[in-house]
Amino acid sequence: MMRTKAAVLYEAGQVAVIEEIVLDTPHRGEMLVRMEAAGVCHSDLHVRDGHLPEPLPMVLGHEGTGVVVEVGPGVTDLQPGDRVVLTLVPACGHCYFCRRGEPHLCATSGVMAAGGVLGDGTSRMRIGTQTLHHFNSVSCFSEYIVVPQEGAAKIPDDVPLEIAALLGCAVVTGVGAVERTAGVRPAESVAVIGCGGVGLNIIQAASLSGAYPIIAIDVRTDKIELAKTFGASHGINSRDQDAYAAIHEIAGYGVDWAFEALGNPRTIEQAWGLIRAGGTVVVVGLSPKGSRVSLPAFDFISEKNIRGCFYGSSRFHADVPQILKRIQAGRMRIDGLVSHSVPLEGLETAFERLRSGDGARTIIHF
Ligand SMILES: [Zn+2]
Ligand SMILES: [Zn+2]
Repeated sequence: MMRTKAAVLYEAGQVAVIEEIVLDTPHRGEMLVRMEAAGVCHSDLHVRDGHLPEPLPMVLGHEGTGVVVEVGPGVTDLQPGDRVVLTLVPACGHCYFCRRGEPHLCATSGVMAAGGVLGDGTSRMRIGTQTLHHFNSVSCFSEYIVVPQEGAAKIPDDVPLEIAALLGCAVVTGVGAVERTAGVRPAESVAVIGCGGVGLNIIQAASLSGAYPIIAIDVRTDKIELAKTFGASHGINSRDQDAYAAIHEIAGYGVDWAFEALGNPRTIEQAWGLIRAGGTVVVVGLSPKGSRVSLPAFDFISEKNIRGCFYGSSRFHADVPQILKRIQAGRMRIDGLVSHSVPLEGLETAFERLRSGDGARTIIHF
């Protein structure tokens, strides 16, 4: 048992309180990790603002990197001193989905996430007598955390902090959406709605896949310009321009793939209008729970497709080394993804930037 500083969300719509909490020692198959950096993602904001109901109180944060300090019994793959990147889906390897080769849909992880607990159904965090819930088995807006061993992958010591911090969600999700969910092929046309942390990685992976044209759509010109440095060939500011007309001018009948990276029902519907007959909308963004999408059913006669995407359909433990290999070889960039760096106390300002769409990712430095 130890004390650590964490950001605790007691009530949706309220500011997360930075305070000292009690953290239990790792149980069987779990590890104590000292956080080095964490990314602030839209999913955290969704919980903070009440668009994604979670059991509260909760310590948020689901994307980050740290160093293993202590391992519980039964931990075989990692040891103290190992640098790790965390995942929000600690796939069990044994459930129906894991056995099907779809570990991102792991049912065991789903139960843990829904209950805000770790594998044995309990939490390692509390304050006084009050139990604090885990966010997707990570809860990394905390100086120290306890995670399942499946929830962390070892990374080399020389991977820069900014890269390591974003690998676990923004990068894996964006790259996976292109390479695993969609399987974009050379010369296929791609549109990406929303050029934040995930959207930029979609653009980058599409570029690596040989896609052309790659059309970045956002309401901020600075983000569109940044997207071009990640491989976008065209940009559309949908505040000033009719995206439908602009896309059809660039890509003829519409694009092969439209990736929606905002999680907004209106832009999902907009994406539907941007694809060609037989094209596909890939919904990567997480929409507020309870929201609905309406599509013209007649369009199905033109074989248009829409498909969901969770966590880039990634196989985390296989994908992280593959992505790191390309980053280290200079084939993939990540430096422009981090626009701001703050201490844990700066979490609320990071949320405000996400709401306003200002900048790319903010990371918390511990
Ligand atoms: Zn995320
Ligand atoms: Zn599983």
